Amino acid sequence: MGNRPRLVTSGIEIRRAVQSAHAAGKKVGLVPTMGALHEGHLSLVDASRAQCDVTVVTIFVNPAQFEPTEDFEEYPHSMEADLAALAARGVDLVFAPTREEIYPPGHSTYIEPPQAAEPLEGACRPGHFRGVTTVVLKLFNLVPADFAFFGQKDYQQSVVIRRMVEDLNVPIRIRVCPTVREPDGLALSSRNRYLNPEQRKRALSLSRSLKLAAKLVEHGEQDAAAILDAMRNVMTDAGVDEIDYVALVDPETLASLPAPRRPAVALVAARVGQTRLIDNWQIE
Ligand code: AMP
Repeated sequence: MGNRPRLVTSGIEIRRAVQSAHAAGKKVGLVPTMGALHEGHLSLVDASRAQCDVTVVTIFVNPAQFEPTEDFEEYPHSMEADLAALAARGVDLVFAPTREEIYPPGHSTYIEPPQAAEPLEGACRPGHFRGVTTVVLKLFNLVPADFAFFGQKDYQQSVVIRRMVEDLNVPIRIRVCPTVREPDGLALSSRNRYLNPEQRKRALSLSRSLKLAAKLVEHGEQDAAAILDAMRNVMTDAGVDEIDYVALVDPETLASLPAPRRPAVALVAARVGQTRLIDNWQIE
């Protein structure tokens, strides 16, 4: 068990800590999270620790990226367990700002997200990426790290953030790490804790439908619509409550592919009970 990380809540203090690490010639890695940490988050921590001398994990449930009807109020919090998990992984610094620190009274500036934010999650959750890009840019300003680590689990988010960093000349390098899954294929998510055993079984059909899409593309299926139908059938047959989308897209632009080609990315979003889950699969 490592030492407990230093817990910082003030923006000025975290920026100073990063500046003094830089002054000592150290490379700094940033891992932004909303807490309720699991092995997916911790894989990003491991990647940062492997590449950087100092790792800063941020824990902030960002109200701006939730739609009014979504689960912001119920989003899981587990600060003590999170700090213990981060201590065990050798994290130096945790930045857990208050809502007022990030959105003080009078805050009214937001990022207009890039085009890649429009389809998929952007179509289902209209203000989501405006909130994500705004908070991520603010975190990049408060924690001026050398590298920032994101998960492929949120594939569209990783594309949107890469684009924003390039478009706005943000001096931070983005690293995207593979999705961590349970042995049976379920992608780890903080929201999985809402699933009861029966719902969890139904939720497995998301990753199953993605694996089927990959297999169909590899076997030469030429018709994207047939692939999307097959994906929908896997989830419907398993009793998923609502499918928000199934998609087969270009990995860079996220434009739908009428005819499959490689590389491509298959994505799904679906609801099981009250829980909305997303997953994706890179088809190389
Ligand atoms: P969140 O706390 O859900 O905002 O996620 C924080 C970061 O962890 C994001 O970059 C996510 O893409 C990443 N992440 C979440 N789940 C996983 C997973 N199963 N595997 C890898 N990265 C993940």
